[in-house]
Amino acid sequence: MLNVPSQSFPAPRSQQRVAFGGRSKVPLKQGRSLMDWIRLTKSGKDLTGLKGRLIEVTEEELKKHNKKDDCWICIRGFVYNVSPYMEYHPGGEDELMRAAGSDGTELFDQVHRWVNYESMLKECLVGRMAIKPAVLKDYREEEKKVLNGMLPKSQVTDTLAKEGPSYPSYDWFQTNSLVTIAIYTKQKDINLDSIIVDHQDDSFRAETIIKDCLYLIHIGEYFIIINGKSSVRVVESVGKIEIVLKKKENTSWDFLGHPLENHNSLIPRKDTGLYYRKCQLISKENVTHDTRLFCLMLPPSTHLQVPIGQHVYLKLPITGTEIVKPYTPVSGSLLSEFKESVLPNNKYIYFLIKIYHTGLFTPELDRLQIGDFVSVSSPEGNFKISKFQELEDLFLLAAGTGFTPMVKILNYALTDIPSLRKVKLMFFNKTEDDIIWRSQLEKLAFKDKRLDVEFVLSAPISEWNGKQGHISPALLSEFLKRNLDKSKVLVCICGPVPFTEQGVRLLQDLNFSKNEIHSFTA
Ligand code: FAD
Ligand code: NAP
Repeated sequence: MLNVPSQSFPAPRSQQRVAFGGRSKVPLKQGRSLMDWIRLTKSGKDLTGLKGRLIEVTEEELKKHNKKDDCWICIRGFVYNVSPYMEYHPGGEDELMRAAGSDGTELFDQVHRWVNYESMLKECLVGRMAIKPAVLKDYREEEKKVLNGMLPKSQVTDTLAKEGPSYPSYDWFQTNSLVTIAIYTKQKDINLDSIIVDHQDDSFRAETIIKDCLYLIHIGEYFIIINGKSSVRVVESVGKIEIVLKKKENTSWDFLGHPLENHNSLIPRKDTGLYYRKCQLISKENVTHDTRLFCLMLPPSTHLQVPIGQHVYLKLPITGTEIVKPYTPVSGSLLSEFKESVLPNNKYIYFLIKIYHTGLFTPELDRLQIGDFVSVSSPEGNFKISKFQELEDLFLLAAGTGFTPMVKILNYALTDIPSLRKVKLMFFNKTEDDIIWRSQLEKLAFKDKRLDVEFVLSAPISEWNGKQGHISPALLSEFLKRNLDKSKVLVCICGPVPFTEQGVRLLQDLNFSKNEIHSFTA
C-alpha cells in the first residue's frame, strides 16, 4: 500500500527508484525529505493532536478518520495519525489513503515490512485498538503465564478523570518464580525515570510519574513475600511498564496483596507527600577542602533514577528532630573514563556536598560512618529535558555548589544532543581551592572542543591570571555569544539565591527570553 510504483516518476535509472521489487517514489516537495520528517518528529510538535495522550481506539472511531487531513491507520494493533506524514511519504499521499480509517497491516506488510514504522511514526501514535476480551485471552494464553485477574480499581477523583491524563491501569501475572506487575500508563514519554519502585517492610509501592500526577500501586501483606529484588522494563512506544519481582518460594499466588492507601489512584503530585527510603553510605571522598563526594546505595528492591536537573531531599534525625535538606545528585565523575566506575549507576546515587562547619545538616552528614543510613526522597524539580531539543548553544552559569545540576547536564549535553555546537561553563568561586572537579573539567574541555570552561574567582591570590570578580554585565555580555544569530540557546544558572536572581536579571537585560533561561531554585 504505502509504496506502489507510479508510472512516470522517477525515471527508471534514477536513484529514487528502489532496486528490489521495482517500487518507486513520488516527487516530494522541497523540505519533505526523510531528514525533514525526522526533524519534525524531534521538534516537540504535537503530531497527533492529542497532546501526548494515548487513547484506546474503537473500530467505529478509526473509521471516522478517513480523510487526508484527518487520517488514522492501524498497524499491528496500534493506531497512527498519518496526516502529518502524508507529504513526507515516499510512496505518495494516495498510497497512504488506501488504508485510511482502517487496519493497514496487510497492505503495509506487502510493501515494506522491513520499515521501522514504530520509530518513524512514533510521534504519530494515537493509541491501541480497544482489545476485545477474546483477543486479550488469546494473548495471555500465548504468553503461557497464569493471570490472576485485576485488583478492583479504587475511587477516581472526578476532576482528574475528566481533565487529567488518561487513567492508567495495571494487571499482574506470574510464573512459578516471578511476579510481573504491568502498568499501562496510556502516555508517551514514559521512561525509566518515570517509575519509582520500593519494597520496604511489608509494603510494595510503585509510583509512576505521569505529567503532574502520580499513579500509585500500593500493596501490603503479600500472599508470600517477595525476596527483595526487582527489575523494571519500559516499553516506551506503548507507555507500558513492567516490574518483575522474584518470589521467595516457587509457589502460585492466589492474590497479589491487600490494597493500601491510595492504591490504584492517580493523584496530583502536589497533593502527595515525599516518600523516603533508607540508603546506605558506601563511600565519601574529599573533592575540595570542604566539599565531598558521597556515594549512597539504594535498597536492593528500589528502582529510582533522578532525572537531569532534579533534586532529592536527604533526611537525618538531628537531636531528635528529622531535618531535611535538598541536594542535587551528580554522576560519579564527569566522564566515566576519568574514573572507571565499577558500580552499576542505577543502584547508587552520588552527591557533591559542601560541609558548612557552622551549618545544621552538613556537619551531621559528614559525621556518618561508611555503612550508616540516610533517608533519600523521591525526586522533585521543574527542569524539563525537552528544553534540550534541537539545542545548539548551551551556557551554564554556576557558583559554588550551584555546579551540581550542571554535572548531569554537561554529561547529557555532550553525549545526547546531536544538534549541540557549543557548551560554555562560567564557574564562579572564591578561590582556586574551592573549584569542584577543576582538573576533570579541564580534561573534558581539552577532549571535547565543544566545551569551554571559564573560572571566575571573587577572592583570588595575586598570581591568578584568570577572570575575577562577581557576576556582572561585562562578564556575561562577553561570555554569552551565540554561535549564530538565530541559534537555539539555553542558559542554566545556579548558585546562592542572590547570585541566581542577579544573573537572571542580567540575562533578561541581554535580551535572553524566559524560555531561554532556566534558573535552579528550591
Ligand atoms: P545551614 O544551617 O543552612 O547553614 C549554611 C551556612 O549559612 C553556614 O555557614 C551557616 O553558618 C550560615 N547560616 C545559617 N543560618 C544563618 C543565619 N541566620 N545568618 C547568617 N548565616 C547563617 N548543597 C550542596 O552542597 N550540594 C548540593 O547538591 C545541593 N543541592 C541543592 C539543591 C537545591 C534545590 C537547594 C535549594 C539547595 C541545595 N544545596 C546543595 C544546599 C543545601 O540544601 C543546604 O542548604 C546546604 O547543605 C547547607 O545546609 P546546612 O544545614 O549544613 O547549613
Ligand atoms: P560560595 O562559595 O559562597 O560562593 C560561590 C561564588 O558565588 C563566590 O565567588 C561568591 O563570591 C559568589 N557569590 C556569593 N553570593 C553572591 C551574590 N550575592 N552575588 C554575586 N556573587 C555571589 O557558594 P556555596 O557556599 O557553594 O553556595 C552555593 C549555593 O548554591 C547555596 O546557596 C546552595 O543552596 C545553592 N545551590 C542551589 C541548588 C539548586 O537550587 N538546585 C543546587 C546546588 C546549590 P563571594 O566570595 O563574594 O562570596
